[in-house]
Amino acid sequence: MITITGKGVYGAIAIGKISVFTRSEVPVKRAHVEDLEAEKARFEKSKEQTIAELGEIYEKALKEVGEANAQIFEIHQMMVEDDDYNESIINIIETQKVTAEYAVAVTADNFAAMFAAMDDEYMKARAADVKDVSNRIIKNLTDGSETGAASGGDSVIICADDLAPSETVSLDKDKVLAFVTAHGSSNSHTAILARTMNIPAVIGAGDEMLEKVRDGAEAIVDGYTGKIYIEPDEETRAKMEKKQSEDMERKKLLLELKGKENVTIDGTRINVYANIGGPQDIGAVLLNDAGGIGLFRSEFLYLENSDYPTEEEQFRAYRKVVESMAGKKVIIRTLDIGADKQVDYFGLGREDNPALGFRAIRICLKRPEIFKTQLRALYRASVYGNLGIMFPMITSVNELEQIMAIADEVKAELTEQGLQFSDKVELGIMIETPAAAVISDKLAPMVDFFSVGTNDLTQYTLAVDRQNPNLEDFCDTHHEAILRLIEFSAKSAHENGAWIGICGELAADTTLTERFLRMGIDELSVSPSFVLAVRDAVRKTDLSK
Ligand code: PEP
Ligand code: MG
Repeated sequence: MITITGKGVYGAIAIGKISVFTRSEVPVKRAHVEDLEAEKARFEKSKEQTIAELGEIYEKALKEVGEANAQIFEIHQMMVEDDDYNESIINIIETQKVTAEYAVAVTADNFAAMFAAMDDEYMKARAADVKDVSNRIIKNLTDGSETGAASGGDSVIICADDLAPSETVSLDKDKVLAFVTAHGSSNSHTAILARTMNIPAVIGAGDEMLEKVRDGAEAIVDGYTGKIYIEPDEETRAKMEKKQSEDMERKKLLLELKGKENVTIDGTRINVYANIGGPQDIGAVLLNDAGGIGLFRSEFLYLENSDYPTEEEQFRAYRKVVESMAGKKVIIRTLDIGADKQVDYFGLGREDNPALGFRAIRICLKRPEIFKTQLRALYRASVYGNLGIMFPMITSVNELEQIMAIADEVKAELTEQGLQFSDKVELGIMIETPAAAVISDKLAPMVDFFSVGTNDLTQYTLAVDRQNPNLEDFCDTHHEAILRLIEFSAKSAHENGAWIGICGELAADTTLTERFLRMGIDELSVSPSFVLAVRDAVRKTDLSK
């Protein structure tokens, strides 16, 4: 098996045979001509032919990838008629007394180099377009034949050095399992078209890929990871077949659920959000069409660093997430370090019982300088979207009073410094200790929301260390004690005008969805890959029965 890595531009998996894309390019040599008028007339004729061909490609693209994406071929037509482009070609023919194809080739190189040198990524990618158009004119001038791959027979994985937009659209879509190119950029229209045509695509696989592929070889393309497996071994094949069928299942669900509300059969509305560890997970959140982010475990910013992340570093990460969610709810949990998440630079020292030790909000309250830095970054990011802040490991009213006092101090300081923050930031707490659940009626009036952390709630309620694999048999996640604590917390929240969600792993257990909804749970926040399954379960629940 040979593994090659490129950049995945459309996430999907293809398994099949390779077809190497060949292009019958006629090398353009510098050749002298005497009859300049005849040469210019040849150019005019090939231009007309090119514009007509692009018109046909536009019509094909319109049917397959829609108007917005087909427009590139109208732009290509405009490029052919562009004054500067034409002036350059005519000038070269007249001054150098050379063939039209040579003049077009030189002009194409010049224009492509000009685009490639631009700072803007979008404009850089236009270099490929000008080459594409010019090659078509040259082909028409020299009678070169069209490119070839995937004609007749089975569907194939197309491997090419690069694919021009017109080549991509001209391929028979039903015969293409995937595209793999040695070069290209993710902003190129080929990449955009592959995404629109829902075809797995990997670009930038390098010249090595071209050396290793051959017609008819078995291959697997993973558009998520950008990996291509040539002649895959049994283990890889089995793994990728499983990934492919899960992927198809997810996409089927997505198609069914996209844009639909999470409402039960009897009309109860519920939010299904996603849990993330940082800005890098936003793609998965959007891909799975989550309604918001119910838990951003901010401690990962600290775990990834070798020193305390600064206010600025944190602000940038929070702002990115809040902004990317474009007004949808984003709940960021303050630092939950300690226990199983240790960071050397905190200098916390060894503990006999870290899960019951100095962790999460306890550290924040004892070391308010760390807490205040994070709160400042959070409040500053709040102006960029719809932010909620939540505090972990709460056990008492007193802790919450201290937190609220510090939050007020931070806001007062920001105001004094003229730094903006939103006045709509919701504040909530995690219900993840039995103590918090039992006094939830006292805590609820102080907050906007609760979010149940069933991972820790289970560990503390059942006295089962969540890190200990030998205790699996004793870890009954459906234990009545846990469910009653959640139910009481839901009642406390609603009686005091707060809402309640679940963000621990149990939220993704669809055998409990109905029970949670009957308790009045308002939000379920799960790993991005579980979002669609939970949404599906919600929509199939009937609370009237
Ligand atoms: C939980 O305890 O359920 C939770 C969501 O937090 P974490 O898993 O990060 O401790
Ligand atoms: Mg927890």
